[in-house]
Amino acid sequence: MDFDNKGLRFSKRKRVAAVCVLAVLALACAGFGTALKRPLSVRRDTFAMGTLVRISVCGRNKAELEAAAAAAEAEISRLEELFSVHIASSEIARINADPEKEGGHTVSAETYGLLKLALKEAEETGGAFDPTIGAVVSLWGVGSERARVPDGAEIQSLLDKTGWAKVRLWQTSNAAKPSETIYRVSAGGGQKLDLGAIAKGCAADGAARVLRGHGVKSALINIGGDLTVLGKSPRGRDWRLGLQLPDGPHGEYFAVLAASDAVIITSGAYERYFERDGVRYHHIFDTKTGRPAKSDLVSVTIVMGRLEAEGNAARCDALATALFVMGFEKARAFLRAHPEVQAVLAAEGGEGLEVFITEGLKNRAELSKGTTLKADAGEKR
Ligand code: ADP
Ligand code: MG
Repeated sequence: MDFDNKGLRFSKRKRVAAVCVLAVLALACAGFGTALKRPLSVRRDTFAMGTLVRISVCGRNKAELEAAAAAAEAEISRLEELFSVHIASSEIARINADPEKEGGHTVSAETYGLLKLALKEAEETGGAFDPTIGAVVSLWGVGSERARVPDGAEIQSLLDKTGWAKVRLWQTSNAAKPSETIYRVSAGGGQKLDLGAIAKGCAADGAARVLRGHGVKSALINIGGDLTVLGKSPRGRDWRLGLQLPDGPHGEYFAVLAASDAVIITSGAYERYFERDGVRYHHIFDTKTGRPAKSDLVSVTIVMGRLEAEGNAARCDALATALFVMGFEKARAFLRAHPEVQAVLAAEGGEGLEVFITEGLKNRAELSKGTTLKADAGEKR
């Protein structure tokens, strides 16, 4: 995630994608009108987590929809204030200021829960996703005015300070109030946390929970192009959601997915980067080298059913980043071992994009002209 305001390059791209996706929604709502006489759709746009956030809700009661969308937006801001490394008062920034603090830091249940999931995903992906990449991310400064290519020694000295295995999470109870749980965190090796690759997903989970709590049945949450859809589209059909063509014109899709109650999250090297001497340095790092991952993939989209479990969007977010770092072969092996995770892996082919689509998505994906299926795309996992 790009919590600062310097990621406008990719935000702009994603903003256009978002507008196109919402054009789909708008059409759907127009259809809703004829079916139910009083069509209503409410949309809220804001800038949060370093990107455009758009919440669109469809239903019958305008005041209720407005209240629901406002509450979902407030939830995203609340979570950003807990997790952002760019907000000095956030819980993550506080830990980073003194990672090895004696006795650890006390954090909210939300931060504890997200760190717990982040450690689980780090383990599950063999460290391809690693929430302790913070020092490396800040050294390179991709997306900021101080972006630069550091020398090998600088990178090495910070790599020694990454590694999720040294983060400790534990719970105690409040001596004065035994029913109250206290959540604690410490980073034993002085690691700096960065939840940029998982927090937008967590915010989407939070927003979805709030919308459902308000009785919303049909909605689309778009956080910088990462999509969560509630229910079916207002026409009672699957939503049709475009996947941005990497490095293509804004809003041009290489595939459209049909989905309802789902999370669709994409990571790619085209989203945020700088160039020096003709080389592109992007914002997704290989934790083994401390350099932008040399992936043979250009984008990874992870898809899961939203209702299968709370926390799905956060997991999808972490996995999109991790599978990008892994590259095609390792990502495929991961997908074989995790049949609950559906994905679209896109690589540069000779003439356009080549995509691998997991079995569960095969009937839901429509490829655009110029996109071809990889030969083994239909293999059973
Ligand atoms: P985006 O924020 O563009 O949607 P990602 O979800 O892939 O993209 O998150 C990228 C962000 O995550 C980076 O800006 C950085 O803060 C952090 N990050 C980069 N590489 C890793 C990694 N290997 N593991 C965990 N976090 C990472
Ligand atoms: Mg991610």
